[in-house]
Amino acid sequence: MDVTTARERLESMLADIDRSIAVLRGDPVAVRDRSAADAGADLTDADRVQAMLAVATAQRRSVVDAIKRVEEGAYGCCVDCAKPVPEGRLEARPEAARCVQCQSKRERRR
Ligand SMILES: [Zn+2]
Repeated sequence: MDVTTARERLESMLADIDRSIAVLRGDPVAVRDRSAADAGADLTDADRVQAMLAVATAQRRSVVDAIKRVEEGAYGCCVDCAKPVPEGRLEARPEAARCVQCQSKRERRR
């Protein structure tokens, strides 16, 4: 995937995430746009909304970081081992910062 495509995809993801976050926070304009509530937010369930907000906020951070890597010319390289992240992985998750090996190592540490 070339960086221009990657950047476009990341920016559109960021717009979607921002819309979801607005819905979760109860922005009345965004709530009216029901298509933005794609995660199926039950706005009466405060705990679930909080959990979804945490997920969306974390995802937003990964997307913002990935855009930063595009700007720095470091996009597509694993932030831990600096090897190229496989194309298929970037297709599935354009915000991925690590190759599969480093990501699973990181997840095991938690
Ligand atoms: Zn790696």
